[in-house]
Amino acid sequence: MKTVDLVVPCFNEEEVLPTFVEETNKVIATLPDYSFRYILVNDGSRDNTLAVMIKLSKEYENVKYISLSRNFGKESAMYAGLEHTTADLVFVMDADLQHPPKMFPAMLKEIENGHECCALYREKQKGESFIRQAISKMFFAMQNATSKVKMPNGAVDFRVMKREMVDSILSMGEVQRFSKGIFCWVGYDTKWLPYENVERTIGTSSWSFWGLFKYAFDGFTAFSVTPLKLLYVLGILMLLGSVGTGIAMIVMAIVQGFVGYFLPVLTALLFVGGILEVSMGIIGEYLGRVYFEVKDRPIYIANVKNIENPRR
Ligand code: UDP
Ligand code: MG
Repeated sequence: MKTVDLVVPCFNEEEVLPTFVEETNKVIATLPDYSFRYILVNDGSRDNTLAVMIKLSKEYENVKYISLSRNFGKESAMYAGLEHTTADLVFVMDADLQHPPKMFPAMLKEIENGHECCALYREKQKGESFIRQAISKMFFAMQNATSKVKMPNGAVDFRVMKREMVDSILSMGEVQRFSKGIFCWVGYDTKWLPYENVERTIGTSSWSFWGLFKYAFDGFTAFSVTPLKLLYVLGILMLLGSVGTGIAMIVMAIVQGFVGYFLPVLTALLFVGGILEVSMGIIGEYLGRVYFEVKDRPIYIANVKNIENPRR
């Protein structure tokens, strides 16, 4: 029998948690080949989430809980949960039933078929505001264009992974975690399945407009230093501009015999500005390297081999 851990970050979910466990248990009952365990992570909720967790753990012996000392954010809560897993397979999912447990059989099937991970993406963004949809689209477009980690439009943090993949994720010790990117960065054969988005029926989403925006920005900067590279482009454009105005100045001097103040000043400004921008771009290049170096990510992740690493 395969063991399965369900990692569920919870922030102010007292209302939905009992229903979540009830609904999930119904699905679990249809999967007798797996032994499930809940790892509920209370992320510093301000309501009675912890009390509800304790109650549930008394009711069901496979309900485990971890309570964080304050609200650390979903990313940290997920990490805390993953660190406590021991099972062969690990699910991550939201507590609000927006990640329907009825997808479990299809997801586990993909693992049985030999995939190392099965993750979901929203097919339609039903029940989401226009602004949210726009930010989400922009986010995925920017993410895929600027960094090496690629993910489908609408990818959500609902997935099942094999043990090795979880261990790889835990080996990435960066504090500013962006799980969507990390899940992709570690590699492994991932099957993406579409699912239909369900509206949150109980409780409220804890994301504000700015919260989402910040999240998108964090994700964007966690895996790419493209903004730093833009400094180069700007500097080179300014230098080219100064060459242009410089030529214009010479032509004017020859044709009209007089140059005036404007062009020389503009040329000098563009030239000095361009040199400064390019210099910042060079510093940015080193800064970008330092940035990735301090993240202390593994240099590679090997998932199949018939030789031991003598150094580890
Ligand atoms: N969550 C968390 N800490 C936070 C915010 C959210 O653990 O600071 C949890 C929340 O309880 C839920 C999941 O992360 O299980 C997704 O949150 P939410 O439903 O608010 O986000 P949305 O579905 O709107 O993206
Ligand atoms: Mg939700």
